[in-house]
Amino acid sequence: MGTIAQNLESVLARIDSAARHAGRDAQAVRLVAVSKTHPFSMIQEAYGAGQRDFGENRLEELLPKMDEAQAAGLTDIRWHLIGPIQSRKTQMAIVPLALIHAVDRLKIATRLSRDAQTAGQCMPVLLEVNVSGEASKHGFAPEELDGAVGEALSLPGIRVEGLMTMAPFVEDEAVIRAVFGGLRRLRDHLCAEYPQMGTELSMGMTNDFEIAVTGGATLVRVGSAIFGERQV
Ligand SMILES: *Cc1c(COP(=O)(O)O)cnc(C)c1O
Repeated sequence: MGTIAQNLESVLARIDSAARHAGRDAQAVRLVAVSKTHPFSMIQEAYGAGQRDFGENRLEELLPKMDEAQAAGLTDIRWHLIGPIQSRKTQMAIVPLALIHAVDRLKIATRLSRDAQTAGQCMPVLLEVNVSGEASKHGFAPEELDGAVGEALSLPGIRVEGLMTMAPFVEDEAVIRAVFGGLRRLRDHLCAEYPQMGTELSMGMTNDFEIAVTGGATLVRVGSAIFGERQV
């Protein structure tokens, strides 16, 4: 591993190259640097190298880091909550977030809607889809998504900006490609049916972000390739 700045540069170059090979504009892919478990000093280092989008998977870790950033004068960070929200904690998520990536059931959407309305806010969200169908994965089943999107779009206080998924941890690139392709087709189908739905596709992590970029990702969530191995 190099320094955080070198790692960022290399990840951005790989995104650029994957986009170019797919005939896509690399500007259409946003890199979310996943800083979970790492200290705030590493966020500062990445910020110094120009990174502005940061992702955390737990509110308990995200909120103190947002406070630290504010205190350090890093006021233009775009924060992404990429992990699941527990239903009794939705109120904690009504903070200035760029995007909530992993709304995995209607109960969460409904509670976010209620809490956002109470606070006079509107939260941008993605619906997480369990494309691979693994029992261990969160998210809407593809076949229930149509109805769920219709309901989520009718909720005030949240804005459905698109879809998110996680590929299975496998070596076989074809399997990963099929999962990302599946999410993209779901997005295309739903956006045709519901023009008010956003077109974001959050997919791709350290092991598979180039496949995701080739497959149409607009947001990739990359941690280890930037910050190194996680401690916990
Ligand atoms: C931790 C995490 C990532 C980043 O994982 P890496 O393999 O370190 O890039 C991406 N998405 C989610 C939802 C995560 O929890």
